[in-house]
Order: sequence, then structure tokens, then C-alpha cells
Amino acid sequence: MKKYPKINKISVVIFEWESLNLGTDYNTFNQVYDPGSKKKQKAAILQVHTDQGIVGEYPMNAGVDVAEIQSVSNYLIGKNPLSREEIYKDIKRGMRQSLNAANSYVDICLWDIAGKLYEEPIYRLLGGEKIPLKAYASTLHGDENGGLATPEDFSDFAQECLELGYKAFKVHGWGLARNDINREITNVLMLGKNFENKLDLLIDPACEIKNFGDALRIGRACDEAKFFWLEDPYADGGVSQFAHRKLRQMINTPILQTEHIRFLEQHVDFILSESTDYVRAGAYQDGGITGTMKIAHATEGFGLDVELHGPGPVHRHIMSSIKNTNFYELGLVHPKLSNFNIWSKIYKDYSDELNAVDKNGNVFAPDGHGIGVELDWDWINKHTVHKFNLAS
Ligand SMILES: [Mg+2]
Repeated sequence: MKKYPKINKISVVIFEWESLNLGTDYNTFNQVYDPGSKKKQKAAILQVHTDQGIVGEYPMNAGVDVAEIQSVSNYLIGKNPLSREEIYKDIKRGMRQSLNAANSYVDICLWDIAGKLYEEPIYRLLGGEKIPLKAYASTLHGDENGGLATPEDFSDFAQECLELGYKAFKVHGWGLARNDINREITNVLMLGKNFENKLDLLIDPACEIKNFGDALRIGRACDEAKFFWLEDPYADGGVSQFAHRKLRQMINTPILQTEHIRFLEQHVDFILSESTDYVRAGAYQDGGITGTMKIAHATEGFGLDVELHGPGPVHRHIMSSIKNTNFYELGLVHPKLSNFNIWSKIYKDYSDELNAVDKNGNVFAPDGHGIGVELDWDWINKHTVHKFNLAS
């Protein structure tokens, strides 16, 4: 009988780096361009080890994610890492009071192990193919510091993205920085005027618009400017089924919700209540690749499209394996700031920077085994501040 691997150790490497000209906005939550400032950033690599020497590895948040993984690490010891469905189900139940980052990052590492064991990239294990993935330039939030500070700045940057090959562009605006909804609306209308039939235009107020009335104003501007989608418009946090169904009844622009709800069941409920047009899901929040594929297939069953939240090689694998999707979220990007994202730092030969697209605005899934890109341990070790085993 075939001898399957067993998980025999869970470890974490925490590292820090500093990004120049990166700061935060008025309420410290949004990262923005801020010339002269230095922002300390911190992340971790989760490692799931097996008795056959194969290690599943992926980056994650260094704070709450590590604490969650700690809670499930004893459970994982001795498990067959290929039993992903059982592990998904057990952690989902065991961590039902938590955010479930544990389920997400553990699952990604288990798929990395499977790919390395079977010597295939993850998209092959999912039944996918290496296909061009149409990327959108997902901007850093608007700032007050001479970067993306005006609607003209956004249009200039959209033009630069168009010339680089991008076919789609997404605004993260200023939100409540000056409580100025008119600046957001002017931005939408100007982009529509300048880029109709040239770029698919998207906007993500990231739940920062103060109320339903202003969300409706933005929505009507998106109608006029023929935006492709309006995402998480306002301060309910993106979770109210009633309010988003109501908004859909009052505007024509498709909306994209469900970034802030978790897992298959809540996504299906949101679809059934007719509260979204496009369905947001992602491996970092919805139970890894296993959880995201469940949502992608459920969405397909309703004849709708699923849109993955955020970049990273794992989303390139998933996107290569589903047909009911439109865009790869590349970013965050900015006209005056680069190389502050984690991906091009920790991986060799991998980037989600502005210039990572080909001349047609596409990116591709990696071809190596598992996640399929090599971690740059020289860089990671140089920036490591803490290394420890959670269980063995
Ligand atoms: Mg979003």
C-alpha cells in the first residue's frame, strides 16, 4: 500500500522590512503614498512540514494569523496532508468563533505539499491550464500628498496603465479623508469620459463612504461613466444583504460584494437574496483553495462570476482553473511608489508590481511544483526577527 505523508511539524518565520515613501492616511488604516516617511512592515511564512521532507509554505499576516495557526497546530500533527476536505471541515468547526485565517493558510500549504508530491503546479491539480489572466491595476488609496491626490492624477495613472497593456483599472479613492463625496464622483466621471471603451473601470470605496445616500450617488456616477463594477460602496462593511439588494434595484452598474463574509454557505445566502452581481471570494479568507473552489463552483451553478480578492501566486492558480471569472487583482500599485508589496520581496522570479503584466495586460500562473515559485530565503533570512515551532 502506498505510504502517504504525515504532518510532523508546524513552524513560522516572522520578518520585517521598511518601505520608503509609504505612510498611512488620516485614520491610519489605509496605506498611502507619503514622501519622506518610512513604514515598517511585518509578515510571516507558515511552514507545514511532513515526514517525507516535503514542506508546504506560504506568506501570511504576522499577528492574528499566527495566533490562529497556533490554535490548530496540535490538531494537524499526524494528519495526512492530502486529506484536505477533512482538515477543512474540522478546522472550520473548531475555529468557528474566529476569523478562520488558520483554515485558509493551512489549506494553501496543504495544496503546496500536494503539488510538490505529485510534481505538478497547483492549477494542474485543479484541472486548469496555463492561460492568460487579465489583470486590473488596483491602485493604492488616494492621498493628499501629491501622488494620487486629484481626479486628474487618477486619469494620468490610468493612461500610464493603459500604455503598459492593462485592460482594466480599479480606483481605491479617498474615502472619508475630507468627507468629500464630490471628489469621488468627479473622479468616476472623469475616468468614464477619458477611458470609455479603452479600459474596464472598477471602483472600490472599501466600505469607507459614510452612508447609503452617498453610496447611491457614487452608484449613479458609475452608471453615467459605464463602470464595470462598484465594490463595497459604504460603511455597512459590505455585509448587509438587504441594503445591497436595495442598491442594486436603484442603479444599473453591477455591484461586487461578499469580500467580508466568510465561506461557502454565507456566499450562497448572499447570492440567493439577490444582493450582489459579482461574487467576491479569496483563498486568504474563505478557507484556502479548497474553500474558494467551493464558492467558485457554487457561483458557476447560479450562472454568475467569482472575482478573487487580492494578488499572489495562489490566486493565479485558482484563476487558471475556473472559467466564470473576469480579472486578476494586481497591486496595490501607484504612479510614484513601487516595491512595497510582499510578493516580489519574498519570491524569486515573481512579481505583482505595476510592470508585471505582458503587453496585453495579462499575468500567468507559475509553472513550478505546488505554489510553483521559489522563496528567496537569502532575503527572508536577512530580515527575519523571529522563528519558532508551533507544534512538532
Ligand atoms: Mg475590495
